Order: sequence, then C-alpha cells, then structure tokens
Amino acid sequence: MSDARGEPAGDAGLGWARVTRVIPVLGLALLAAAPVVLPEYQITLFGHIGLYALVALGLVLLTGVGGLTSFGQAAFVGLGAYTTAYLTTRYGVSPWLTLPIGLALTAAVALLLGFITLRLSGHYLPLGTIAWGISLYFLFGNLGFLGGHTGLSGIAPIHVFGMELKTGREFFYLIWLTLLGAIALTRNLLDSREGRAIRALKGGVVMAEAMGVDTTRSKVVVFLVAALFAGVSGWLYAHLQRFVNPSPFGLQIGIEYLFMAVIGGAGHVWGAVLGAAIVTVLKEWLQGVLPVLFGASGNFETIVFGILLIVLLQRARDGIWPMLAQMLPQARQNRPVPDAQPLARRPFPPPGSVVLDVRAARKEFGGLVANDDISLSVHAGEILALIGPNGAGKSTLFNLISGVMPPTSGEIVFRDARIDRLKSREIARRGMSRTFQHVRLLPTMSVLENVAIGAHLRGRKGVLAAALHIERDEERRILAEAARQVERAGIGPQLFAAAGSLPLGQQRIVEIARALAADPCLVLLDEPAAGLRYLEKRALADLLRRLRAEGMAILLVEHDMDFVMGLADRVVVMEFGEKIAEGLPEEVQCDPKVVEAYLGGVD
Ligand code: ADP
Ligand code: MG
Repeated sequence: MSDARGEPAGDAGLGWARVTRVIPVLGLALLAAAPVVLPEYQITLFGHIGLYALVALGLVLLTGVGGLTSFGQAAFVGLGAYTTAYLTTRYGVSPWLTLPIGLALTAAVALLLGFITLRLSGHYLPLGTIAWGISLYFLFGNLGFLGGHTGLSGIAPIHVFGMELKTGREFFYLIWLTLLGAIALTRNLLDSREGRAIRALKGGVVMAEAMGVDTTRSKVVVFLVAALFAGVSGWLYAHLQRFVNPSPFGLQIGIEYLFMAVIGGAGHVWGAVLGAAIVTVLKEWLQGVLPVLFGASGNFETIVFGILLIVLLQRARDGIWPMLAQMLPQARQNRPVPDAQPLARRPFPPPGSVVLDVRAARKEFGGLVANDDISLSVHAGEILALIGPNGAGKSTLFNLISGVMPPTSGEIVFRDARIDRLKSREIARRGMSRTFQHVRLLPTMSVLENVAIGAHLRGRKGVLAAALHIERDEERRILAEAARQVERAGIGPQLFAAAGSLPLGQQRIVEIARALAADPCLVLLDEPAAGLRYLEKRALADLLRRLRAEGMAILLVEHDMDFVMGLADRVVVMEFGEKIAEGLPEEVQCDPKVVEAYLGGVD
C-alpha cells in the first residue's frame, strides 16, 4: 500500500500546487490590507504605481507581445485626464459620464493615429509615436480652454456608491481594482483565438496572414487597447490629483512608461506591475539621494535609469519578471485538451474536378525569371508533386499561388475564381492552406497553440468576447480540432512542447498539422519530408494518402525522389524557372531531360 510519506515526489508536487494557489490569495490579502496599515505617503505611492502599471500593461500588449514600440502612451493618458478635467470643471458633467466620453475620444484619436503610424515599419513606427507624443503634449499646453501650462484645477472627486473618494487611501482600491480587472481582461484576451493572432504579430506576420489572420486588424486592436488602458489611467489620475497640467503627459514620461514595461518584462502582464513598482520606487528614492550625492539639484535619476536600461538589455532582455517567475512554482499544468463538438467543415469539390489551375504564371525578380510562364493544374483527390533542383523556382511558385507575393503576369484560378490579385488571407479563406519550406512557427508557443492558429478562420468570436472569456465554447472546439490534427499528424506526445524546441523534421510536421487545421481543400506542402527519418517519412506518406482518399488536393514540393515516386499521381518538373516535364512518375523518371537536369543536379 502506498502511504503519503512513502511518496515524497507526489507530496512535494501537492505542496507546490498548494503554494501556487496560496500566492495570489496572499497577494490580494496584502493589497487589501495595505491602505489600512501603511502611512498615507506610501499609499499614495502605491496608487501611482497602480496608475503607471495600467499604462505599462497596455505596452506589454502593444510592445512586448505585439512588437510595436510606442513612446507616445503618455499622450493618451493626457487625453483621458484632460477630457474629464475639462468636462467636469466646465460643465459639471459626472465623472462616470466623462469616463466613456474620454475613452471614446481616446479611441477616436488612437484609431486616427494608428491608421497613420501603424503603416510605418521598422524604426519609423517608434519615431511616429514620438511625433504624436510631442504634438499632443504641446496641444494640451497651448489650448486656452485647457488652461495652458497652468492646467485645470478644482476637478470634482469621484463618488462610488454615494461615497466620496477624497484621499489616496480611498482611491487606492478603485485604482487597484481597475488594474486587476485590466490584467484579467488582458490575460483572457491573450489566451484566445484573437490572442494567438496578436501573439503572431511579432515575427509571424507572413505565416499568420497565410492562415487567414488579418494582422493589420490585430495591430489596430492592441494599439486601441493600449490607448484605452492609458485613457482610463488618465481619468483616474485626474480625479486623484484633482488638477491636471501638461507636464505628466510629455515625451519624457512616455519613455518612462516604456521603460517600466521593459524592466518588468514586456512579454508578461505581471511584468507591467513589477516594472511600474520598480521604476516608481527607485525614482522616488534616487530623487532624494542623488541631489545630495551630487551636491546640486537636477533630474539625475534619468542618468541612472539610462545606465540601468543598458545593463538590463545586455543581461536580461526579457526583463525581471521572467527571472522571478522561474523561482515560483509552475502555475499551470498541461491539462489534457477536452473533447468538444467538431468544428463545421467546408464541402469538398467533387473528386477529380480541377481545384487549382495555374495559367502561365510568371515571376521576375529584377532580371531573374524565377517562374517562366508556368502552367499546371491540381485536381481534387490528387497528389501533384513539383520537383526540380534547388533554385528551380518551386517555392516562388508556392508563394504566387498562396498570395504571399503577386505574379508578374499570368492567371491563377482556385475553385473557379481568379485569386492572383488576392491577399493571402483571402485565399486562405477560400480553402487553401500551406506549409513553408523555412518553417514559420512561433517558437515559444506550444505545438497546440501553433496548430490552433491554422484554425483561425473557423472561429468568429471577437476581441470583446475573448477578453470576457465568453467564447470558451468556440475556443474549446478550436483547441480540440488542433489537438486532433496534431494527433493525426503523429506528434501527439509533443502537444504541449514549445514548437521551437522540436527537431526541425517535427517542426515541419507541426506546419502540416497547422495547415490541416484550416480544413483546406488544397494544401501546398513545401518539402515536408526534409529532415524526417525513414519511419517518419512513411508515416507522412500514409497521412498524405489518407488525405487524398478523403478528396483533398495536394501540391507537394519534395527533394526525396523515392518519397515522391511512391506517392504522387503526377509529377511536374522545373528547372531554372521553367517547366521541363510533366506526367506520371514512371514517365517523368525516364525522361532524358529530367534525368539530366534533376538527377544530374543531385549527383
Ligand atoms: P526552389 O524552391 O525551387 O529551390 P526558389 O523559388 O526558392 O527555388 O528560388 C528560385 C530563384 O528565385 C532563386 O534563384 C532565388 O534566389 C530567387 N528568389 C527567390 N525568392 C526571391 C526574392 N524574394 N527576391 C529575389 N530573388 C528571389
Ligand atoms: Mg524551395
């Protein structure tokens, strides 16, 4: 018989689980007790940390997760603050009414600015945010009705359930409840279909678009959410301080917000809180110590922050939170994916009908003709292999077909409609899916989540539903479908592994599972068997045969001749951008041109 003492491992496991559950409860209890036990000065400091953390949280989403750097968040804080300051002091509007008005205004400005700046790429985006950060700051200072540089004072306090929030002590709870609510919404959002699309923004745009994700929309969403969080923070700030002037909404503070997110850990929601706390406390302390040290007054803390940032970027790029989290027990176990009602499937075209018709597709890169008027067609329930030596133009043809790049000339018809001018996500919507020769996975995300991106178009619940987690039914169905495809592709045991940790051969299989999760009627597989061992190749061939039997059309680029010859119904051979042969595998194999071009190239 087993007794608890005889199983130290199990006991320890249980102990950790208990610790994991205790930490949040303990944290909440401490937070709730803080205003009762701490002196007023420290409560005010904590309140400010909460306000900053709310803005930094938006930056975690925007910069840490979405990869879009903004120095201009302070301007959105200002918008929220000035809207309520102006409306309450001038017209006596209730603060509970100015909140939605301020947020609507913030959203409108964010949409306008986002529309202009999000098109900028690389360094131009941060520069753009600096530009509007400065512009809005000067606008606040120069508009007469906003009180110029003196600002607006005498802002009314907020009433909650008839209670007036006058002191920092009373305000504390409102701030932190708002922050915790925002954290919950953010976590929910990230853990959803929309969230996976957002998490693909950093480094996965081409892949996500090929899976049907509108990445421009996802960018606008994170931009908007970050601006709204900043707006709420501004509203709270105005009613806490009871007066506003332009100085807390300038570029300098905008940089500080970004600094908080980066120090704390821009990829993690709790990093925002940690970063806000560290920067605020440190700044407070340095402002007291440094002038004494230097024997002069000035903003010396800025220098220290600059040095700190450089050290941090060299030593701990991901910020401090991940280092702390490592010490904490692992909170989430890999729960098995529960079965759920299957997602709806699209009807397949009748077997044998033409699914894809490429007509004289041409692609020129400068003087290089990568595809020289290539024509081919693929039928439902057929495996067409595209072979040829390296540099023949096979991957380029895949990119033309799947809309990653437009052809220079020629037509591509998919399911009786021209697609050669469509975006790749629109082509995905019509039932085409693909893998990439150079795998495009999100390496830190699990295999399950990577494959779930493939099923993006099979769900339709939006951002709000995701943030409130009222889309759990659909999410379960998407995850169950992803798990099924992972299982079917033969990598079930790796379901929760980080995709980037798998050997390259298996990463290709993840790509196939992701493509299949889209429920396509045509899949394009670019060298799926590269890097696989013999038995894995056989399993892959079996899978492709089953898909063919179900009526799927498969276009396959492959180097392994044995693999292709035993599997393909027809073969198209390319060399130097041209089609040099087409036919049954046996015919093509004996074609002298092919033997010379292809087999000669290999030997
Ligand atoms: P394959 O997949 O058959 O090995 P590719 O389609 O990758 O061949 O490449 C065909 C040719 O087109 C190569 O000479 C390659 O260098 C060139 N090429 C591919 N993509 C680009 C690009 N984006 N810009 C310029 N040249 C390219
Ligand atoms: Mg290639």
